[in-house]
Amino acid sequence: MADKFDVIVVGAGPGGYVAAIRAAQLGLKTACVEKWVDDKGTAVLGGTCLNVGCIPSKALLETTHKLHEAQHGFAAQGIVADNVQIDTKKMVERKDQIVKNLTGGIAGLFKANGVTLLQGTGKLLAGKKVEVTDKDGNVSTHDAENVVLASGSVPVEIPPAPLTEGLILDNAGALDIDEAPKRLGIIGAGVIGLEMGSIWARCGSEVTVLEAMDDFLSLADIDVSKEAKKLLTKQGLDIKLGARCTGTEIVDGKEVKVKYTDSNGDQELVVDKLIVAVGRRPQTQGLLSEDSGVKLDERGFIFVDESCRTDAPGVYAIGDSVRGPMLAHKASEEGIMVVDIIAGHKAAMNYDCIPNIIYTFPELAWVGKTEQELKSEGVKYKVGKFPFAASGRAMAANATEGFVKMIADEATDRILGVHIVGGIASELIAQGVIAMEFSSSAEDLQLTIFAHPTVSEAVHEAALAVDGHAIHVA
Ligand code: FAD
Repeated sequence: MADKFDVIVVGAGPGGYVAAIRAAQLGLKTACVEKWVDDKGTAVLGGTCLNVGCIPSKALLETTHKLHEAQHGFAAQGIVADNVQIDTKKMVERKDQIVKNLTGGIAGLFKANGVTLLQGTGKLLAGKKVEVTDKDGNVSTHDAENVVLASGSVPVEIPPAPLTEGLILDNAGALDIDEAPKRLGIIGAGVIGLEMGSIWARCGSEVTVLEAMDDFLSLADIDVSKEAKKLLTKQGLDIKLGARCTGTEIVDGKEVKVKYTDSNGDQELVVDKLIVAVGRRPQTQGLLSEDSGVKLDERGFIFVDESCRTDAPGVYAIGDSVRGPMLAHKASEEGIMVVDIIAGHKAAMNYDCIPNIIYTFPELAWVGKTEQELKSEGVKYKVGKFPFAASGRAMAANATEGFVKMIADEATDRILGVHIVGGIASELIAQGVIAMEFSSSAEDLQLTIFAHPTVSEAVHEAALAVDGHAIHVA
C-alpha cells in the first residue's frame, strides 16, 4: 500500500484538475490520476476540454472567423485585402500548439501546488481505495480520505455511421481535419455540430447538417433558435431537420454515402467527410469495482446528490460523468464545491445560473429560463429585447446581427433569463449571469451605468425594454 492521501481525484479534465489544484491550495494532500498518455507515454492533462473540445474548437473558430471577416467584411470598411486565403495546415498546427501550451501549463500548476500526478487508469475499490494501473500494466493501490471521480465523457457512436479513419469522424477526428473537404456532412445540429460546420463552411466546404429532431436547437430560447437558424443558413450551412441517418457506405475508399430518412422518405447524401456529433455519454467503464458502493443512474451517469456526493461515503463525482449540462465550467465549479466541502467549508452550486454558449458567429449565449419553459411552467413574465442593429458600437464593429433578450418576472421584476445572439455574446452573457447570481431585478440593470459606446449597452437597453423604456429603439 502506497501513501495515504486526503484527496484522490480520478481524471484530469477541467473538473478533475481544478478540484486537485483547489484541494492542494487548501492544504490537503492530493493526488490526481490520469489515464490518457501521449505517444511518448507522458500523461495528457486537461481532458476533453483542453485536448479535443473547448480550446481546439475555439482556436479553429477564431481563425476561420478572421478569414470570413477578411473575405466578406473588410471591403465594406474600405480595407483592401484581395485574394485572402487560408493555409489550413498552419491553422491546425497553431491549434495544436495552443493545446500543447495549455496542457503543459497544467503539469506546471500541479507541480507548483504540490499535486501528485499518478499516471494510469484509476478504479475505485471499496473503502475509498483507488487502484491505479499504469501504461505498462503495473498496479498500485492508494488509500484516500476522500475520492473525487471526474472521469468525464466520450462521444456517442451510432451504428449507422461507424467511425472510419479519415472519413467518418468523431469530435477528436474532426478537430484534426487539415484540409477543407469539398463536401462535409455532419450528423447532429447541436453545439459541436454547428461549431464544426461553421469552421469548415468558412473555409469553403459545402456543409450539410442532418438533425433527427424536427426542432432546431430546442434547448435555446425560441427567438435565439429562430435567429440562429436564419443566420447559419445564410452562411451556407444546409440544416436538414427531421433527417435521421439510417446508414453509411464508404465509396471507393474516399467518399461517404449517407442514407437518411426525412418527411419525404429515403434520401442520400454523398460527402467527402462525415462528422458524427450526436452527443456524449458518461465515461465510467472500468471505473468502479462491484463493491465500491457508487451507483449509476438509469442513463449511466454516476448518481449524485446536489452536493455531488455519491452513495459511497467520502466519494464524490463531478463534471460530465454526472447529471447536468456537459460543460467545462460546470465541471470546474463542481470540483471547487466538492473540495471546499471536503475541507469543511460551506459550499453550494447554483445550477440555475450556468451559462450556455455556442461559438458560431454570431455567438449564441444564454442563462436562466427560456420563454418556452416559463410558459409551460405558467410563470407570468415580461420581455425586453434590443437589437444590435441599433447599437452604435456594434455598427462600428461591423457586428449588427442579433439581439439581447431579457426576461423578468411580471410581479417581482426579478431577472429569469438572458438570451443573446451577437458578436461577443459569450462575453456579454457574464453580465446576465452576475445579475442573476445576485438576484437582480430588471430595474437594477436599468439603474446601472453602462459605458458608451459599448456593445454592453444592449444589455442595459434590453433591461429598459422590459418595461417598454428602451431609448434607442422604437
Ligand atoms: P473530461 O474533460 O472528459 O476529462 C475526464 C478525464 O478523465 C480525461 O482526461 C480522461 O482521460 C480521464 N479518465 C477517465 N476515466 C479515467 C480513469 N478510470 N482513470 C484515470 N483517468 C480517467 N464545454 C464548454 O464549457 N465550452 C465549450 O466551448 C466546449 N466546447 C466543446 C467542444 C467539443 C468539440 C467537445 C467535445 C466538448 C466541448 N465542451 C465544451 C464540453 C467540455 O469539453 C466538457 O464538458 C468537459 O471537458 C468536461 O470535463 P470533465 O472534467 O468532466 O471531463
